[in-house]
Amino acid sequence: MTFDQLGLTEILLKTIAEQGYTTPTPVQQQAIPLILAGKDILAGAQTGTGKTASFSLPLLQKLAETFNPKQTPRRVRALILVPTRELAAQVYESIQTYGAGLPLHAEVIVGGASFGQQVRQLRRGCDIIVATTGRLLDHITERTVNLSNVEFLVLDEADRMLDMGFLPDIKQLMTLLPKQRQSLLFSATVPNAIKSLATQLLNNPVEVAVAKQNATADNVSELVYGIGKEYKRELLSYLIGSNNWKQVLVFVRTKHGADRLEKQLIEDGIRTVALHGDKTQGARNKALEFFKTGKVSVLVATDVASRGLDIDDLPHVINFDLPQVAEDYVHRIGRTGRAGLSGAAISLVCPEDAYLLVEIEKLLKRQIPRIADTGYEPVSLKVIDAPKKNAPHKETGKKDYRHSKKPSKATDRRGAAKPSKSNDNKRGTGKSRSR
Ligand code: AMP
Repeated sequence: MTFDQLGLTEILLKTIAEQGYTTPTPVQQQAIPLILAGKDILAGAQTGTGKTASFSLPLLQKLAETFNPKQTPRRVRALILVPTRELAAQVYESIQTYGAGLPLHAEVIVGGASFGQQVRQLRRGCDIIVATTGRLLDHITERTVNLSNVEFLVLDEADRMLDMGFLPDIKQLMTLLPKQRQSLLFSATVPNAIKSLATQLLNNPVEVAVAKQNATADNVSELVYGIGKEYKRELLSYLIGSNNWKQVLVFVRTKHGADRLEKQLIEDGIRTVALHGDKTQGARNKALEFFKTGKVSVLVATDVASRGLDIDDLPHVINFDLPQVAEDYVHRIGRTGRAGLSGAAISLVCPEDAYLLVEIEKLLKRQIPRIADTGYEPVSLKVIDAPKKNAPHKETGKKDYRHSKKPSKATDRRGAAKPSKSNDNKRGTGKSRSR
């Protein structure tokens, strides 16, 4: 199948060709014609499958078809909600790219950026808003944004939004949107909570499923290095240095751990930068920019970065620490092997974390190959002392709710703390606005 069979206009086909896309991805093949036909959709599509283009292209086309140049200032006609600032930037960038030849104007509204500046941008008027929910609600409170003309709603990575505790925000925003609209819900996984959200938000939706749930991409090779905790850093430096890897995304469990590893790798002569939720938005943007442009070879990140990062041709992802929640493994390694390119995902697993590997392999329903000779004293990855039910994690101090039937009120269903001070999508306060 080719793009010109999907019903897209010449101008968009030209932009797509300029991007070097020749064949629509499965989610694009299914979603684009449905969206153009005005259907609501519930798409179970993993990141890296081309899902952003699958909603952006038809959305831009529909907005352009009915664009009224006499309408000044412009009205917000499309709202795209995303879980993190990074994903907002990513989606906004795609909209800018795909909509380059169209008369439409988009704005990105996220926390951590100047509120006053956003007010000025909103006052000038825009057709599309890409937003995280907290800051958007701040603008609602201040009456600096009007959503009563929204014709198209997109929820991107909806499962992540629910995991991060933004359901109340979403529900509040829904009361402000016209009932008559086209709604599109994209989610990497489609658990019952998403199905229930879909019944509330979508009108007679068509389901689009393109990737198996909890499956990792076929083009990513995965390996486990069983290694003593004290040797992990040394092995990491060795792997990067000896292979001369130029772009490596390294995941760690804690913000403190990210800062510490950044320092140690720099001491080892490896150009490194850390990215986590305690950094200012400016520092986060700069870290990403340095990594994308090759100024640094290694980005050490907490799970804040496991979604929404789209780096062309990212060849290596390393789990310095395994994630506490098995699903995050899939999201982390989904940073590589995007758009059909091959990638490698390596996990450094110490005996203390062997129980996390068991959970991941249970989820994947397969074993990840082990490296036989790591060059270090062999360690056993047999689970001997998995933390007791609901015991706080040794490093993060967070309770482990993996075995609980119901998460406590203070935590989301994955056991991660609800949005707090350092959260990406923090509801703006007077203080955060000036940051
Ligand atoms: P996404 O799943 O939206 O995050 O997209 C993953 C990557 O695939 C992005 O870098 C897109 O630029 C790229 N991409 C999207 N559609 C296509 C396509 N049809 N052919 C090749 N690359 C694509």
